[in-house]
Amino acid sequence: MTSKQFHPNKHSIREQVFPFEMDCPATMDQQRLLLSYPLFFRAAQHPLTYLSNLGYWGIQCGPGWLQIVEKAASEIETELQGLLERLNNTLELASVDRRLQRLPAVPKHGDEGHEDGETVLIPFCSEIKVAEGELHIGVSSGYLCDWPTWQRIRAAVMKAQLEAKTRCERCGKPGLLRVGYWERVYCEGCAG
Ligand SMILES: [Zn+2]
Repeated sequence: MTSKQFHPNKHSIREQVFPFEMDCPATMDQQRLLLSYPLFFRAAQHPLTYLSNLGYWGIQCGPGWLQIVEKAASEIETELQGLLERLNNTLELASVDRRLQRLPAVPKHGDEGHEDGETVLIPFCSEIKVAEGELHIGVSSGYLCDWPTWQRIRAAVMKAQLEAKTRCERCGKPGLLRVGYWERVYCEGCAG
């Protein structure tokens, strides 16, 4: 890659923080969100260790939903910190996960090889995108994630996805799913 595209908008005057920003510059709000929850969003810092849409593209939803995503991320980050504390250790998570990925796969269901949750220690966010107009937060599980913790993480994700169904993706005001040429959740103002 010899030249880098530059997108002149009000958000573009800041440094690149994440590797994906070579291709998809993040807004400052997205950068701040990703930096605030470094365990949950570690794929953004380590895209080659955590092959995922988040690592390649960053956050792929409108600014109106970032608060909703942040609430879930905050709850999940606390769960992840709890999982790590149980290790009673300080470790560089990405380097441990890289080592885990070099281990032979241990198929749990049939012989499909690696599955979600088999190659990392604790869960991470794999994508944040819009699917058929609705917020989708993808989370991969991990070896150390017990069932109750996983249920709480899933609940935080479900709560956020549910809340986004009635919030404008563009501005965060009350909205509803508009089905037409595109499917998006917008408020009256943003739909017009
Ligand atoms: Zn709006």
